[in-house]
Amino acid sequence: MGLIVQKFGGTSVGSIQRIGQVADKVARFRAEGHDVVVVVSAMSGETNRLIALAEEVQERPEPREMDVLISTGEQVTTALLSMALHKRGVKAKSYTGSQVRILTDDSHTKARIREIDNERLHAGLEAGFVLVVAGFQGVDEHGNITTLGRGGSDTTAVALAAALKADECQIYTDVDGVYTTDPRVVDGARRLDRITFEEMLEMASMGSKVLQIRAVEFAGKYQVPLRVLHSFEEGPGTLITLEDANQMETPTIAGIAFNRDEAKLTILGVPDMPGVAYKILGPIGEANIEVDVIVQNSADDNTTDFSFTVSRSDLARAKEVLQGVANEIKAREVRGDSKIAKVSVVGVGMRSHAGVASQMFGALAEVGINIQMITTSEIKISVIIEEKFLELAVRSLHSSFGLEREPKEEGTA
Ligand code: ASP
Ligand code: MG
Repeated sequence: MGLIVQKFGGTSVGSIQRIGQVADKVARFRAEGHDVVVVVSAMSGETNRLIALAEEVQERPEPREMDVLISTGEQVTTALLSMALHKRGVKAKSYTGSQVRILTDDSHTKARIREIDNERLHAGLEAGFVLVVAGFQGVDEHGNITTLGRGGSDTTAVALAAALKADECQIYTDVDGVYTTDPRVVDGARRLDRITFEEMLEMASMGSKVLQIRAVEFAGKYQVPLRVLHSFEEGPGTLITLEDANQMETPTIAGIAFNRDEAKLTILGVPDMPGVAYKILGPIGEANIEVDVIVQNSADDNTTDFSFTVSRSDLARAKEVLQGVANEIKAREVRGDSKIAKVSVVGVGMRSHAGVASQMFGALAEVGINIQMITTSEIKISVIIEEKFLELAVRSLHSSFGLEREPKEEGTA
C-alpha cells in the first residue's frame, strides 16, 4: 500500500469507453488500498482541435487566451473520469491546475512549475478520495491560467509525485514500456525492465515518443521512480530509476538510439589559428541555431576543416551564416549535407566497461558503414553516418551488443 500517481495520456482517455476502462483500473488500485492521484490529458486530438479553432479566428492569438482555450481539454477529462469512478462506487474529485494550485511562472504556453500546494491534496486523500487532476496546466501568481507545453501532462504527474513524495509515478500510454531501440526498425527490440534516468535522457530521441523528456529530467532531479506502462495491457512496463549499485549485472548497454533530424555543415580550408572555432560557431549561436556534434581536423598546411551538425530545418540558414563567415575568415568552401543520421549506443555500464567504442566501430565496419563523425559522453557514443545506412547500422549494433529478445518459439503466439 502506498501513494501512487497515475497519468493517462490522450489515447487512454480518447473515448467514453476508454475512460471507463481507466476508471476500472484506478478502482482496482484503490481496492488494493493504495492512495491514488490520477493525472489526465485531454482526449486524443482535442488539444490540436482547439489550436486549430484558435488559428481560424486569429493568426497569432495572444498566449494568455491560448492557454485559457487549450487548458479546457484536460478539464473535460477530469470531470468525465471522476463521474466514471463515481459510477463504480469510488469516491473521487476532479481538480483543475489552479484549484490544486500548481503555481507556475507566467510564460504562457510553455510555463514552468514553481511550486505545488499539497495541503488540499493531502486533505482530499485523507478523506478517502481519488484525486483526478488536470494535466498540462497551472496558474501564475496573478491567477492567470498557464499551460506547460505540448505533452506537459507527464510533467504535471511527475511534479505531483515529487510534491506528494509518492511511491511511484506511473505513466500509462499506448506502448508497454521503453525499448532497446525502435521496434519498427529492429524486430527483436526488447522491452527494458528498468533504465536509469540518465540513460533515458540520452535515449531522448527514442524516448520522447514515450514520454516528455522534461518529465524525465524532473523525475531524475527529485528522484521520483517513474514507470511507463501500457494502459490496457497487463505487464510490468519499464521502471525509470536511479542506478542500482547492488545490481551485480548491470547490462553495459541499455539501447541504441538514433536520430534522422541531423544535417552536417563543413567549412573547408580554414586558416588554423586561435579563435577560429569561436568565429565560426559564434554567429551560429547568435542565429539561435543549436549545434550538436563538432569535429575539427588540422592539416599540415596550416589550415583546418571544421564540421558540425545542426537540426535539418536549420541547415539552409546555418549555411547562409557560414558563407558569410567563410568570406570573412578567407576559408575555401562551405558544404552542407542533409543526408546524414546519428546513431548512439547508450549505457551507464560504459563507465566500468572498456571496449564499447571499439565494439561499436567494429560492428559498423563489418557491414561496411563509413563513420563520418564521432562524439562521446560518459554513457553514450554517437556516430554520424550516411542516412541510407541508418537502419542497417541500428540493426547491426543491436545484435552486436546482444540486445535482442529471445526468439519466440515456433507455434506460440
Ligand atoms: N493535451 C496536451 C497535449 O496534447 C498535454 C498532454 O497531452 O500531455 O499536448
Ligand atoms: Mg501525451
